[in-house]
Amino acid sequence: MFCPQCGAQNPETANFCMQCGTALKSGVSNPSPIYEYCQILVEIEYGAFGDRLRCYAEATGPSGIRKFGHSRWFGKVFGDYSKKELDQLTDGKEKLAKELLADGWEFLPPDESKVYKFRKRVT
Ligand SMILES: [Zn+2]
Repeated sequence: MFCPQCGAQNPETANFCMQCGTALKSGVSNPSPIYEYCQILVEIEYGAFGDRLRCYAEATGPSGIRKFGHSRWFGKVFGDYSKKELDQLTDGKEKLAKELLADGWEFLPPDESKVYKFRKRVT
């Protein structure tokens, strides 16, 4: 590429002009972007006749931790999850994940925790 400042030719991989030192790529002056990270968690309200659950998003970033967005509540009887309850939970997570993607969040590769994780660039 050619330097916009002095016109010298530089390798495509150069971050700075070899001739005059001008930054050739945007973002070079800020090499470590700051991200806000977010994960979809499950909130449980315990009740005498059963619990209720919903999914919500919790973001951690430079400005601290904030909760935002949530799925609908759904009921859960005590004991192990039934197939229907697991489906509702998955459905809630996926709907919330779609909202996050539409809002500019980037999906991070899943790990063994099976928690949906995202990140969004702050600066
Ligand atoms: Zn130059």
